[in-house]
Amino acid sequence: MNIIFLGPPGAGKGTQAKILEDTYGMVQLSTGDMLRAEVAAGSDLGRKAKAVMEAGGLVSDDLVIGIISGRIDQDDCKTGFMLDGFPRTVPQAEALDRMLAQKGYALDHVVELQVDDEALVRRITGRFTCGDCGEGYHDEFKKPAKEGVCDKCGGSNFKRRADDNEETVRSRLAAYHAQTAPIVGHYGRQGLVRTVDGNVAIDRVTGQMTEILG
Ligand code: AMP
Repeated sequence: MNIIFLGPPGAGKGTQAKILEDTYGMVQLSTGDMLRAEVAAGSDLGRKAKAVMEAGGLVSDDLVIGIISGRIDQDDCKTGFMLDGFPRTVPQAEALDRMLAQKGYALDHVVELQVDDEALVRRITGRFTCGDCGEGYHDEFKKPAKEGVCDKCGGSNFKRRADDNEETVRSRLAAYHAQTAPIVGHYGRQGLVRTVDGNVAIDRVTGQMTEILG
C-alpha cells in the first residue's frame, strides 16, 4: 500500500507514520528528515537547503523531487511507502503523479490530518527529541520522567529542530495554507482523499487511520 500524509507541520504525520510502519510494512519517506540529513552532512544539497529551511520557506521543487525519486527506487519501497512532507506544492504533486506512473506505482490513499493552527504552534514550539535514540518529548505534554534524562535510552543529549521556533512555525503554517492545502483539491478530484481529525490523542488518530487503511 502506498499513501501520502497531508497536513500542516506538527499535525502528527511523522508520529503516525512511525506507528504504522510495522503494522502495514510501509516505509516512511520524510523529505524533511532527508533534507536535515543533507544539512547535517554538509553536502552541496544541504548547503542549498539550509537557509530556506531555517526561514520556514520551501526548498525548490527540483531538489526535493530528485531526492524522493532516488529514494523510491530503493528496494524497501517495494512493499509500500508513506510520503510525509511531500508533495508540498501542486507542481510537486503533478511531478509525483508522473514519477509514480513511470515507475509503475499507484497511490492507495491521501490521508489529510486536520489540526487547528494555534494547537500546532503549541505542539511544535514545545517539542524536542533524544539525540541518541530519537525518542520524542514535549515541554508540556510528554516530559521525561527524570528531567534531562531520556526514558528510553538513559541519554542526556536532547535536541530541538532549528526551525521549531514560533516565528518560523508561523511562516511554515502560512506556506502550508498557501501552497500545500491546494493539493487536497488535486487528489480530491482523483477520489483519493480521506480526512482524519488530528486534534485528538495519538492513539485515537491511529484508530482513525487503521479504519481507513483496513
Ligand atoms: P518537515 O520536517 O516536513 O517539517 O520539513 C522541514 C523543512 O524542510 C520545511 O519547512 C521545508 O523548508 C523543507 N521541506 C521538507 N519537505 C519539503 C518539500 N516537499 N518541498 C519543499 N521543502 C520541503
